[in-house]
Order: sequence, then C-alpha cells, then structure tokens
Amino acid sequence: MAKKLGFLVNSERCIGCHACEMACKNEYQLDPSIRWRKVYPLKEEGFPLPERNFMSLACNHCEQPECVRVCPVKAYTKREDGIVIQNHDRCIGCKMCIMACPYGVPQFNERYKKVEKCHMCAQRQDRGEKPVCVASCPMEALSVIDLNSFNEYGTVKSLPGFPDPSITKPTTRFVNPKMGVQIRRDR
Ligand code: SF4
Ligand code: SF4
Repeated sequence: MAKKLGFLVNSERCIGCHACEMACKNEYQLDPSIRWRKVYPLKEEGFPLPERNFMSLACNHCEQPECVRVCPVKAYTKREDGIVIQNHDRCIGCKMCIMACPYGVPQFNERYKKVEKCHMCAQRQDRGEKPVCVASCPMEALSVIDLNSFNEYGTVKSLPGFPDPSITKPTTRFVNPKMGVQIRRDR
C-alpha cells in the first residue's frame, strides 16, 4: 500500500526555540524573508501561556491539496507517498497557489519571482534520512508519520488558530499541549 506521509507536531514538547525553522533555512539557504517552516504561539483564548504553547508548521502535504488543483502550469505534484512537491523550474510566479492554500504555505520569492515551499525533505527521505526540521529538534517535537499505520489516538487534526482542516485534508497531526499546574507564589 502506498504511504500517506505527514508531520506529527507534538505541541506538548515544543519549547518554541525555532531550531526547526533555522535548520530548514540553513539546509536550503533560504532567502532572509522566506521560512518554509514557522513556529507560532497558540491562541491565548485556548492556551493562556503564550510563552509556553507553540505549534511548528510547514506544508501540510494535504490529501486534497488546493495548490495542486489550481496551479495552471502543473508545477505541483503529489508523490505516491503523499509528499506534495513544487517544481521551482515550472513555476511562473502567478501566485494562484498562494491564494488557494488555506495555510499560507507557498511563499513568493521576490528575487526569483517564483513561489517555493517545504517538500518534507523528500530527497533526504528517499535516502532514508529524516527531514532536517525533525532531525534538529532538541525536544523531538516533530516526526514523520504514515497515516496508514499511525494510531491517531491522543492526537488531533487541528489546534486553535489552525485553519479548518475539512477543506484540503492536511496530513499534519498534533499532540495538544496540556495545561500546566498553576504554582501560587503568594502563599
Ligand atoms: S522544534 Fe522543536 S522544534 Fe521547533 S520550535 Fe519546537 S522545540 Fe523547537
Ligand atoms: S498546505 Fe497548502 S501548499 Fe501544502 S499541500 Fe496543502 S494546500 Fe498545498
């Protein structure tokens, strides 16, 4: 059976150090304004500790990717293992994918006038290696899962602030951060 690869983001473990973002930028020598992976604080309505609760996001390698559907030059392909690849050489910079992706993933590179995004380090995975974001996390907060065999118990498809997953069926799964014990210092 073909794989269905996705990222598992353990927000209970993430400490917001941005190591994943930086490893990705370094590996692919991304321009200063471009980040294929971004670490966000979780919404304070649901998680009132902005210094403690984060989600680390990149492309969600969706099951029904809008980027693939709208690109007029077929620059996007979804591999058999589920990874969504964008072919930089085919891209004409029309930004249709930027408008279509609910997650703000594709980013426009002003220098090349083309769009780029995370490819889950497909070439590294083809060599049996982990994506650099996964390999660099000191907390092991990121991993790659195969949704065919992954036991989703204890995980969720969305966290507060994450767009509605019903549109493109992202393959990213999250472990919800647990609320910490309140330590009272006034007694
Ligand atoms: S990675 Fe790991 S990953 Fe990214 S911010 Fe969280 S703790 Fe850091
Ligand atoms: S997150 Fe956006 S860019 Fe990534 S596969 Fe889904 S629709 Fe495409």
